[in-house]
Amino acid sequence: MAKNNKIAIYPGSFDPLTNGHLDIINRAALIFEDLVIAVAANSEKDTLFTKDERVDIISEATSSIENARVESFNGLLVDYAKKNNVFTIIRGLRTLSDFEYEFRMAIMNRSLDSSVETVFLMTDEKYGHISSSFVKEIYNLDGDVGSFVPNIALSYLNNLKNEKNNK
Ligand code: ADP
Repeated sequence: MAKNNKIAIYPGSFDPLTNGHLDIINRAALIFEDLVIAVAANSEKDTLFTKDERVDIISEATSSIENARVESFNGLLVDYAKKNNVFTIIRGLRTLSDFEYEFRMAIMNRSLDSSVETVFLMTDEKYGHISSSFVKEIYNLDGDVGSFVPNIALSYLNNLKNEKNNK
């Protein structure tokens, strides 16, 4: 069967979606005809937001990008990609430490399935310092994360804080 090179998957934890992720999504959607943003559901225990909340945040933040859709997946990324007949994985790169991790993961994915290729997009310099884990750390310390995440993610973060405070 011929490979479909017009579709790509952008996988991640997205806990929560940041402006850096959104930039990668916008740029990947200009390159590929179809973009699937795939929320990893495996490690739900360790995430601030549930899989469904993460999917909802991304769906709302990307609603104007017509060729992007959001899904979630369990298990191995290469299995999920193959099942959907997708052979291109998008990942973002910020720092040298990202590179180290991403390099190992791309090679591992290739050794699991050599038909799947990882394509890297370099962060925009505006977003190179933004990560979900920093956002969570600052949020936990009551800092302002409004300039790092889309409005919908900020609403979810604020709701979570209100729920916690009302307990
Ligand atoms: P994971 O837990 O799979 O690493 P993340 O949600 O942290 O998932 O990130 C998904 C992808 O987006 C990763 O390739 C990561 O390097 C990339 N990414 C995260 N933040 C940024 C950013 N600010 N700019 C560019 N790429 C980013």
